[in-house]
Amino acid sequence: MAEAGPGLEVLAGRSAQVGTLPVRRVLPTRGHRTIGAWCFIDHMGPTTLRAGDGMAVPPHPHTGLQTVTWLFEGAALHRDSLGSEQLIRPGQLNLMTAGAGIAHSEEDPDGSGGTVHGMQLWVAQPATTRSAGSSFEHLTDLPRVHLNHGTATVLVGRFDGALSPARRDTDHAGVELDLRRGTTVVPLDPAYEHGLVVASGTLTVAGTTLAPGAVAHLGTGADELALTADGAVIALLIGGVPFPEEVSMWWNFVARTRDELSDAYRDWVDGSDRFGPVTSPLARVAVGPPPWLGGG
Ligand code: MN
Repeated sequence: MAEAGPGLEVLAGRSAQVGTLPVRRVLPTRGHRTIGAWCFIDHMGPTTLRAGDGMAVPPHPHTGLQTVTWLFEGAALHRDSLGSEQLIRPGQLNLMTAGAGIAHSEEDPDGSGGTVHGMQLWVAQPATTRSAGSSFEHLTDLPRVHLNHGTATVLVGRFDGALSPARRDTDHAGVELDLRRGTTVVPLDPAYEHGLVVASGTLTVAGTTLAPGAVAHLGTGADELALTADGAVIALLIGGVPFPEEVSMWWNFVARTRDELSDAYRDWVDGSDRFGPVTSPLARVAVGPPPWLGGG
């Protein structure tokens, strides 16, 4: 972790595999388990998958979180246990709220493979909604803001006066920045801590180079940030009021205690209707127990 000016740290992610997809997991990371209520970021690809060997993330459960699926390139088919079946394309927000429990799959829409590039992020739900019902929304018309050298698309929350219509259970925001060569100063909410993840290209922030595979964390109190692009850059800026509750995560579950995680594990293994079936050609994911129940 490199100090890069007041309050800015660059934290390296690690490589992982989700179904057929190679990802770079940049959150949680050592030093920061959450940024606002954001608790997980996978940068998927860019990768080119062969026909018949495309995106295949079989039905699996979630609790206590929202999934934000956001593509830069390619397409994905979302199916969930609410009966949703939704094609996801670049620039469209796919937002699933798990509450007490939901299951979903992410699939190649037509079996043709092709290039996939995107991010999936999770937002921890607060006490007020994390044990309540699940929901799903897909938003194709998001607010855009013109920047000095680029454009911002507001996925969630408020940025520079523009407010996304997406459901939001805590005070947080997520914005795609499409930048051209030059320096762009973006306004920040000083009540938020922020994270910046580059999807393609290279940014210089507070004297430090930020490339794909890392997250730059900025603490509360900043009201703007200067971003210098040396060419075309796509980045995701996330932020939020520091999450006041201790989050406990294992596998696909966000909870507060190990006992809650153990219950969610058992409910999935037992086929409890807490999660419900997903209509998918893929078989539901099997998982071994968490380490504290003797798993690996
Ligand atoms: Mn998932």
